[in-house]
Amino acid sequence: MLDIQKIRADFPILNEKVNGKPLVYFDNGATSQKPQVVIDAIAKYYQEINANIHRGVHTLSQLATDAYEIARGKVQNHINAKHAYEVLFTSGTTFGINLVANGFASFLKPGDEVVVSSLEHHSNIVPWQMLCEKTGATLKVIPMDENGELIMSEYDKLLSEKTKIVTVNHISNALGIINPVKYMIDKAHEVGAAVLIDGAQAVPHLKPDVQELDCDFYAFSGHKMCGPTGTGILYGKEAWLNKLPPYQGGGEMIKEVTFEKTTYAELPHKFEAGTPHIAGGIVLGTAIDYMNEVGFENIQKQELELLNYATEQLSAIEGLRIYGNSKNKTSVISFNIEGIHPYDIGTIIDKLGIAVRTGHHCAQPIMNFFEIPGTIRASFSFYNTKEEIDALVEAVKKAQLMLS
Ligand SMILES: *Cc1c(COP(=O)(O)O)cnc(C)c1O
Repeated sequence: MLDIQKIRADFPILNEKVNGKPLVYFDNGATSQKPQVVIDAIAKYYQEINANIHRGVHTLSQLATDAYEIARGKVQNHINAKHAYEVLFTSGTTFGINLVANGFASFLKPGDEVVVSSLEHHSNIVPWQMLCEKTGATLKVIPMDENGELIMSEYDKLLSEKTKIVTVNHISNALGIINPVKYMIDKAHEVGAAVLIDGAQAVPHLKPDVQELDCDFYAFSGHKMCGPTGTGILYGKEAWLNKLPPYQGGGEMIKEVTFEKTTYAELPHKFEAGTPHIAGGIVLGTAIDYMNEVGFENIQKQELELLNYATEQLSAIEGLRIYGNSKNKTSVISFNIEGIHPYDIGTIIDKLGIAVRTGHHCAQPIMNFFEIPGTIRASFSFYNTKEEIDALVEAVKKAQLMLS
């Protein structure tokens, strides 16, 4: 079992007061807090080895390059990619999805189809809409049911030889639902379509195995898994990455440049133009080490306990409705209270030191489906406690009294 107090001591921000009250941080779905080892590693990089990578024979440049490539290897092991060069450093999930969507512009023609789900974050909707506009391909949407689950029989019907790529999140940021991605990947492959998995909400809770999933692309952000903002990973199968054109042109992504013709560098450099967030990439490796030390089994056990406890406690509040009632859920609760705008609850409980997200969570189509302006989303991490959930429940009750 996790020693929660010991874990909490790793996160200095958890000792902060907000509006005079101890911080209760339940906005982990937006970004996670950072442990001291991650904070220290950022300073250590700039204090000890700061230099540009892949560009100099001098010692510091070698040290920085080695550290960056070691971090790539850590990510490779973590997600079980076959090759380190299938792991691309990006600035985040959004960048990774745009890289793929942009690359597919050279393959698609009018009549082709792109399949997305109705549970997606805007960053896994808009790039595909832009792609369809550019190429004349058609966007198809997998519908969901009242529980917030994607309807697999409808998904099966959407697939055909016209489908070129399917893109779906591993876990929904708005509702916390875990999608049946393995099934979806296998089905898409039967019709010859590629599959991109948006893993932004999955990596804080589980260790994805990209070879077992057999996905063609897997994108995620570092900042939701204890790492720095501005960091992320796009995994792509070697064959796909060789097929896709480069996304950005610049330094580091070339083999040879003349004004007549430029040839591109090998993977992964073909997709890593310009000076990257070197410290960020290295420290993402530190964050992954930290999470593996805590242990994903421990993380899941603690988060499941928090999810069950919070669901029970919140459900007891009169007029409270939880959206997304799947059995396959991670530690996210999206809810509303009858007759009260989610923003008003969020504002009042913030005064009590409790940080939750209110609004549409960058997933407006889901809110339209439920015909609501938004929800209050409490998302728990392994460093949260039942006492904090009690504080949330009390605060919500107080807000309800004040607002009704
Ligand atoms: C957060 C999130 C994104 C976007 O991640 P960025 O770090 O903002 O690029 C995409 N999809 C899901 C499911 C998310 O939760």
